[in-house]
Amino acid sequence: MVLFLLPIIVGVVAYLAWRNRAVRGCRWRADTSGDKGALRKYRCAACGAEAFTARNGPPDMCKRGLGNSPL
Ligand SMILES: [Zn+2]
Repeated sequence: MVLFLLPIIVGVVAYLAWRNRAVRGCRWRADTSGDKGALRKYRCAACGAEAFTARNGPPDMCKRGLGNSPL
């Protein structure tokens, strides 16, 4: 019966890995209307997180779950 449970366990692990990858792979969109001086506002199209960055390009990681901390 252990062998019978293996496909279910593998499926759950694969689903969790896929979900984590989906969260990590944020799709940042520049929101120029929210710019603050040199800080450019980006909004994640995947999870709705918002982030500011002073560098070129979007943030490296998803900000979801980090709260509304400044930078
Ligand atoms: Zn995101």
